[in-house]
Amino acid sequence: MSFFDRLKVGLARTRGSFTARVEQVFRQPPGPEFYEELEAALVQGDVGLPTSALIIERFRARRDTHDPGQRREALRQIVVELLGAPAPLQLDPPPAAVLVLGVNGAGKTTTIGKLAHHLRAQGRSVMLAAGDTFRAAAIDQLVIWGERAGAAVVRHAPGADPAAVVYDALAAVRARRLDVLIADTAGRLHTKVNLMEELKKINRVVARELPGGPVERLLVVDAGTGQNAIQQARLFHEAVGVTGLVLAKLDGTAKGGAVLAIAHELALPVKLIGIGEAPDDLQPFDPQQFTDALLPVV
Ligand code: GDP
Repeated sequence: MSFFDRLKVGLARTRGSFTARVEQVFRQPPGPEFYEELEAALVQGDVGLPTSALIIERFRARRDTHDPGQRREALRQIVVELLGAPAPLQLDPPPAAVLVLGVNGAGKTTTIGKLAHHLRAQGRSVMLAAGDTFRAAAIDQLVIWGERAGAAVVRHAPGADPAAVVYDALAAVRARRLDVLIADTAGRLHTKVNLMEELKKINRVVARELPGGPVERLLVVDAGTGQNAIQQARLFHEAVGVTGLVLAKLDGTAKGGAVLAIAHELALPVKLIGIGEAPDDLQPFDPQQFTDALLPVV
């Protein structure tokens, strides 16, 4: 299956509800009710109020027609524009560090495994750091993903200082002249202050050990959590400066419309999307391709 076909399959649930509803509205006669119904469909599709209102405003600025095809094309153009330009990971010159952030259950460990696989397929050498020392199971999971992807894993005992794990892993990356370190981090939000301090410490270690080097701080959010994801992003961004978002579990949700809200409400680029649990189920986010899969030309 091609990359694009996999994305289409991943978005099937969202197309079944959100897209189907929007297409229904496109068949309405022109007039104020059309805009109201379109806005309602967007809001119900988890696009969120501010983003839905903006889309309607841009829609109103165009001449409306009876033609569902032309209306679809108008929405497609507005959505592509809203999603912005593709934002690839910045990993050059090597060695690069990728800190993977997010609340427990968002999909961090799975994303790391898939990203390791993706980068290995591009010919990059990868090391993983088991920085979520709070959960023994997270360390074990990372080791399994590392074995699958052909990436060594630096781990300490459960309860160890995560910044020390990342420090050791960076030393190993330099000694072995590897290309990318991907570090897992803890995501227990009930000790928010401690967690953010811990992340800042890891950040400082990376900045000291890789001076001027490429560092990505990727926040993984569960795409099915909509507004919650936006709040999480604000919190993490304030603490450590997020360089990009990973939207995980887009395949498991009918709430794919939330991608528009997330892209618009947060001034942060979406860099990767997760569309399943298999090693191949992580893709660079391509706004045009995403729009083609979400609002296909029929
Ligand atoms: P963490 O606590 O943030 O490390 O989250 P995990 O990586 O352990 O993921 C939590 C659950 O979500 C696991 O059952 C994963 O298999 C699942 N998961 C993660 N990413 C995806 C995805 O893109 N699609 C689907 N369907 N499931 C995912």
